[in-house]
Amino acid sequence: FAPWADPDSKPFISFKNITKKFGDFTAVDNLTLDIYHREFFALLGASGCGKSTLLRMLAGFERPTSGEIILDGQDIAGIPPYRRPVNMMFQSYALFPHMTVESNIGFGLRQDGMPKAEIAERVTQMLKLVKLEQFAKRKPQQLSGGQRQRVALARSLAKRPKVLLLDEPLGALDKKLREETQFELMDLQQQLGLTFVVVTHDQEEAMTMADRIAVMSHGNVIQVATPAEIYEAPNSRFVADFIGDVNILEGKVKAAGNGRIEIAGDDFTVRTVGDASPAIGAGAAFAVRPEKLKVSRAAPADASINASEGEIWDIAYLGDMTVFHVRLPSGKVVKTSMLNAQREVENPIGYDEKVWVSFAETAGVVLKD
Ligand code: ATP
Repeated sequence: FAPWADPDSKPFISFKNITKKFGDFTAVDNLTLDIYHREFFALLGASGCGKSTLLRMLAGFERPTSGEIILDGQDIAGIPPYRRPVNMMFQSYALFPHMTVESNIGFGLRQDGMPKAEIAERVTQMLKLVKLEQFAKRKPQQLSGGQRQRVALARSLAKRPKVLLLDEPLGALDKKLREETQFELMDLQQQLGLTFVVVTHDQEEAMTMADRIAVMSHGNVIQVATPAEIYEAPNSRFVADFIGDVNILEGKVKAAGNGRIEIAGDDFTVRTVGDASPAIGAGAAFAVRPEKLKVSRAAPADASINASEGEIWDIAYLGDMTVFHVRLPSGKVVKTSMLNAQREVENPIGYDEKVWVSFAETAGVVLKD
């Protein structure tokens, strides 16, 4: 949860058993999800998983085939898009090219018939909010990509929605500008105290901005959690694979009990923490991130558990860190990474060297499927 969200409070947005079919095709499949007031919430998934469809149903551009959407205590099924306290921010190419920045921002307000003086005041506020005061009279094509994005943002905030929906908001920006804009969006969200729901297929973007993430696949939510939980404790092979890099060590359950599980695999006997009591002999998989695997020349104190010999197979220097691919005795190659700030300066580990790969009991999780 966001530090300011009250976990006992009622959800602000609830999707209840939402299904959306297009003909025979099910784009969203009996999905249930709660979003809290003032959360920065991300819907993350590969192309076609149904995330935009979910957002469009919240905005009112699509109707669910079945299920309910509750917003601020109210079933919104019968409410048309323009009367929902929700606004969608479109990518900057949806700005009107023939209108100035200020007319673009005031467009929705004029449509609502707001008095002119009030519109002018609101537009001035919005220009200030997105730091574009000097650009009020320009046309969109006289602005940079990042500035255009901020106009689009100001336009979508001008009507003071309670919820802002953002569908791939930064897709058109280059990497550096994207990163800057991510932080601007986070600041703005906190400043305004609004609920933001962003759709993205970019996991770094979701991890950077969101308080919580829903990882989606095939019209369903697979895991909803904070970025740290999603990364450190993926609930499934799908999430472990989808987010970041991961090594999956397969084996058979050798022992379980007293808060520990042991899995015997080809290269490792994995001992890890876990309350589940899987059947002895059942297949099991342990997921561990590259930075949690330690590479060393010296054997660890107890080389029989969570350790294996190996050989450096590949090295990639990435500036902030170095990635080692290590070939284990079975032939499996694991990926490990080490911050260069922590790497030995003299006589660093090199190609073809014999090394040990080891990890702590808490370094990863046993996957449930
Ligand atoms: P992307 O990141 O590519 O936008 P997405 O996860 O947002 O993907 P959706 O746009 O929600 O995916 O679409 C989910 C599925 O529903 C896709 O397979 C898409 O082809 C299908 N779909 C979406 N809208 C329609 C429509 N109007 N008619 C038929 N099929 C549709």
